Amino acid sequence: MKKPESFPPACHPSGVIPAGRIHFWPIDRWRALQRRRLRQHLAWAAKSPLNRQLARRTKTGRGVITADDLLDLPIITKQELALAESGALAVPTDRIAEWVTTSGTTGRPLQIGLTARDLSRLAENEAVALNLAGLQPGDTLLLAVAMDRMFIAGLAYWLGAQKIGAACVRIGSQFASTAQMLCAWKTLSGRKFLMTVPSLASQLSISDCPLRLEAVIGIGEPLLGPDLRPNALAACVAKSLALPADRVLSTYASTETCTTFAQGPRCKGGHLNPRLGWVEILDDQNQPVNPGTPGNIVITPLGVEGMPLVRFATGDIAALYTAPCPCGRTTPRLGPILGRQSQLLKVRGTSLYPAAIFDVLNSIRQIEDYLLVVESTHDLSDKLAVYVHFAGGKSRIPHLCRTLKAATGGRLKVTPDIRICSREELAAFRAGHPARKPIRFLDRRGR
Ligand SMILES: [Zn+2]
Repeated sequence: MKKPESFPPACHPSGVIPAGRIHFWPIDRWRALQRRRLRQHLAWAAKSPLNRQLARRTKTGRGVITADDLLDLPIITKQELALAESGALAVPTDRIAEWVTTSGTTGRPLQIGLTARDLSRLAENEAVALNLAGLQPGDTLLLAVAMDRMFIAGLAYWLGAQKIGAACVRIGSQFASTAQMLCAWKTLSGRKFLMTVPSLASQLSISDCPLRLEAVIGIGEPLLGPDLRPNALAACVAKSLALPADRVLSTYASTETCTTFAQGPRCKGGHLNPRLGWVEILDDQNQPVNPGTPGNIVITPLGVEGMPLVRFATGDIAALYTAPCPCGRTTPRLGPILGRQSQLLKVRGTSLYPAAIFDVLNSIRQIEDYLLVVESTHDLSDKLAVYVHFAGGKSRIPHLCRTLKAATGGRLKVTPDIRICSREELAAFRAGHPARKPIRFLDRRGR
C-alpha cells in the first residue's frame, strides 16, 4: 500500500530507534497524533471513579471528558491522588501486574498500579528516552539505581534498555567496587553508559570507575542551569569521570506519570515524547504561562491503562521551550527543575528556588557536602542557612567562607548564613528524612 503523501518522510540521524523518530517529525504531524491520543486517553480515563468525579466539575457536567474539556478540568494534586486510593484505578485490582510507590518525601507514599500494558508503555517511554541519550542496540547500561523497595525508576530503565536491545548491568547505588570488578570483564559489549544520581557520581574519581564511559545519565537532580547549559553539578560529574560536560545528561520523570523528559548530547533541555504525554506549565492561578517562563509542571500521561491521570500537578517548577532544539528534534523541551512549588524562597525582595543556591555550592570544589535550611519566616522574608562541610585543612575555611558569600551575594543577591559543620552533624540533620538521593534542602518554615 502506498504511504500517505501529506507528511514528508521524517529526517532523523542513524541510531534513532523507530519509536524515537516521532521527535523529528514536523510539528503539525506529531501534534495531530498527540491530540488523537489525548482524546482516546480522556475517554478511557473517565472509567476511574476519580476522573468521573472530576468530569462532573466541567462546564457540561456530563461526566464524560472530551479534549475540549481539558482546560476546564481541575488539576489534580499529589494529595488528592493519595486520598483517592483505589478510586484512581480504571481497572479491577486483579488486572494489576506491578505495584509501585512514590518515595513519600513530599507526603505519604502513594500506591500506583500498572497493568501489563502499562509496563509495555513504560518500556517504550524509557527506550525512547535512553536512545535519545545515545543508548543503542549492543551497548551496555550500567544501572547504579535502586531496583527494589517498590521504586519504579530502576525497573523503568531496565525495561527501556531491554526494549532497545542493550545489555544491563545492575551495579547498585554503592557501585565503586562493582565498577572495579567490571573492568576485569572482557565480555561487556558496545559503548558503556552509566545511570546514576549525579551528586553520588560527583564524589567518584576516575580510579573508582576506570571503565571508559560514553555518557552519564543523571536522575533526580538538574544538570542544566537556567541558561540550558551544563550547571556546576554537571561540571563536577564530568571532571570526576573524565568526560566532556555535554556527556553528562539529565532525565526527568515522576512515578505517578511514567512520562520521561530526556536529553541528548546537543539538547537544550529534556524532550517530551508527544505520543506518551501532554504537558502544561501553569502559574499560581493555574493559568498557562508563555514558553520559557517557569511554572508548575502539569502532565496528562497518554495511554496509561491502570491509573489514568488527567492534569496531574507534579509540584515541580520548570519552563517549557517550544523552538526546535539544536539536536534537530521538533518536540518541546523542559528546562531544569528549579525546585518544588512549595520551596519558593523569598529573601528581602528576591524570589528564588533552592536549585540556584545548590548551583553556587556545587561550583566550589572544596565543599564536600552541604545542606540548605530555611529556618523561619519573618517580615515576609525567609532566613536561610547553609550548613557546609569543607574538605581539607581548617586554615582554608575563612577564605572559603568569603568565596561562598561573594558567590551567593554576587550571583543571587542573597547571603545565607554559613555554618561550618562536620559530616556527622550533617548526617544528624538528615536523620528521619529517608530518601533515595542526598537531602540538600530542609524546610523549617512554619514550625
Ligand atoms: Zn534536543
